[in-house]
Parts: sequence; C-alpha cells; structure tokens
Amino acid sequence: MLFPDMISESSVPLYWKHPYQKEVTCAISKLKENDLQFNQILFYPGGGGQLPDTGVLVYNDEEYSIVTTYKDEEGIWCKVQSAETGMFEIGKEVILRLDWEKRYSFMKAHTAQHLFTHVLGKLFNCETLKANFEENWIEMEVSLKLTPDQVFEAIKHANEIIQSGTEVISIIVSQEEYKKDYKSKIRGKISEEKIVRLIQLGEEDGFDLVGCGGIHVENLSESKGIVLENLKGNFIKLLVDKHGFAFANKQRRAMMKLEEITQKKDDKLIEMISNKLVNYDILQTGNVKLLKMIFSKIHNWQKTINDYSCVFLEIPEIDRQAIQSAAKEIAEGVFLSIIGKNEILYLLSSDEKLPANDIVKKLLEITENKGGGNKSFAQISIQGIENPLKVVENVIKNF
Ligand SMILES: [Zn+2]
Repeated sequence: MLFPDMISESSVPLYWKHPYQKEVTCAISKLKENDLQFNQILFYPGGGGQLPDTGVLVYNDEEYSIVTTYKDEEGIWCKVQSAETGMFEIGKEVILRLDWEKRYSFMKAHTAQHLFTHVLGKLFNCETLKANFEENWIEMEVSLKLTPDQVFEAIKHANEIIQSGTEVISIIVSQEEYKKDYKSKIRGKISEEKIVRLIQLGEEDGFDLVGCGGIHVENLSESKGIVLENLKGNFIKLLVDKHGFAFANKQRRAMMKLEEITQKKDDKLIEMISNKLVNYDILQTGNVKLLKMIFSKIHNWQKTINDYSCVFLEIPEIDRQAIQSAAKEIAEGVFLSIIGKNEILYLLSSDEKLPANDIVKKLLEITENKGGGNKSFAQISIQGIENPLKVVENVIKNF
C-alpha cells in the first residue's frame, strides 16, 4: 500500500489502510442520539452496490449491536441498537468489532468484480453499468447482451488471473497527485475528492486502475474463483469463494440426478438437453413469425364494438415472450385480446382511445386475479373467469 505522509492518518478509514483489521479501541467523537462517530473509522458505510458493515460496540463492558453504518455530510455514523436513548458520552473509550465473516465475504466478492469488469472490457468492450452484492453473490448489469460462451470465456480468463495470485494494490493520494500521476490512466469515474483512493490489480504498473473507496482483499487468490450462477439479458450473477464451490457441487448433483432419471451419461445428456433447447428456439422463432403475420393482417378478423376495431384470439400455445416480440407488427388502430399460455390474457392496443391498462383496471374490478401493464401492452390472469373474451367484449362495450 502506498500512503503519503501529507495525508493525516485519522481522516483515512482503517478499511483503506488496514483492510484486515477486525477490531479497534477508539473514542466516541460525535453523537446524534444512538448514532455515533468515532476518532477511528473501522466500519464501511456501504456504497458501490455493497451493504454497510454491521458489528458490535463495547461500551462500559456491555455489548451493543451496530445495526448499520451510513455516511452523510457530517461523516460516517454507526447506528447502535440500545434500549435507552442518550446513554452514550462523547470522549468515552469504546471497542468496535466488525461482523468479520460478512465483511470479508464482501471484500472477496467486490475485488473479484473489479477483475471481472476489467476482463469484460478487455475481451468484449463491454462495460459494467451497475454491480450489487450480497454475501454470497455479485450481480452485474452490463452494457451488452453477452452469449453464455462469451461469459464463460471471461470467467476462464478471470479465474486464471485469480489463481495466479495477483496482488491488489491500494493507493491513497491527494487530489493534486491524482491529477498529476493517475487521472489519465483511470478506468471509470473520475474523482473530485480531496483524498483519492485508487485500486490497482497487479504489481508495478498493474492492469486495472480505478478510483474506489470500497473494501478489498490484498490478493485476488482470496476470492478463490468465479462461478456463473445466472445469465439473463444484460444481467450476470456470479458467485465466488465457498459459495461458488457449493453451487457448482449442487449443479453437479442435479446433473447426476438427471443422469439417473434419463439413464444417459453426462455428454449424452448434455447433447440431449442442447437438442431440446435448439428445438425450443426453433419453436419460439416459428411462433414469433406466425404471430407477426397474424398481427399485420389483423383487420381481416376485426369486430367493431363502439367504433373500436377489436380482435379476439385464443392461442394457448403462445407465451408472453413470443407475443411481445411480435407486438410491434400489430396493425394501426386495433385492440387485440389474446389468450396465451398458462391462462394469461394479453391485451395489445394500437388505438390511443382504448388503452390496454385501462381495460385491465376494469377487469380487476371484477376479479381478484393479478394484472397490469401500460397503454399498449397489458396482461391479466384469467383463472376462474368464465368466457374471458366475452367479458372483455362487455367491458369495451361499456367503456
Ligand atoms: Zn472497489
């Protein structure tokens, strides 16, 4: 860690200087009822998608829970859970102790996310828009819809860097030094803070330099490795450390169960599943094509109710995704009611005067089922409703 003498020690949080410190003896420096500040900053106030630290305060030999930590313009506050208000005194010596397991878990996940963001940028020019953490997972929203193959390539690359024992360097500099030596090399947001904290992956020149006031491990190998939990659109959910191992083993167990049921071994099973998926894709594409055709020629089926052009269809094989993909093709000035998969009624309107969500609202008055949507696309469950298309027709008649 680089640490310039010119920056006063106490204003720098302990989680920057000594990231593995779990406990400190210090004094209360400010208070607002049961929210306390101390002359040493041990607890991280959250931010950058990470939850704030929690832990314990020892005051007059009694232990009190610190339920959360937050930052405002006056500094970093620890919220103490206590029966009485106003029992704490400024200047009093106390002990602070972190909920270390939780904190360390976040350190491992967050540092791995620095690396993964770097790798996605380098391999696919893909940016991380947002990252959220829980103790056992990282969820990232990224700028591109990556394929599973791309994500696994990035994970492989990141895991090689993790397993090679790459150092994580913490650099704390004044704004002047930052401008002079670092600003031009930064990935991500530029800092305007008086004291800037930088995180670099790799020693010497390293390969990823970002401004970050968060909590990190000192060596990437502590994260152990990254496992993909889920990929959905622009969202990637990752697991690290023991959580990743537990998940991988659980998946393997599920695979073995499938092997037992289908009596097909591993690669045979994978082949069978991927064939099914290909068939599913073909079916989906086929459905969308068919719907697009129907939607564009919809006037042929129309029925006029109070001057509104309405079309009623029942295609129980079709799901929401297919209907939404085809929705743009719908002819002008039409109100379409379509019963799809799982007893869901979809309402699509290209007629401004007859908003789909208003019709759903009317339907919700006569059923306890769930529903909602916007002017052009809405849906409602029709479970237990007799002749739902007739019901919609009546609602439009009285609209
Ligand atoms: Zn960070």
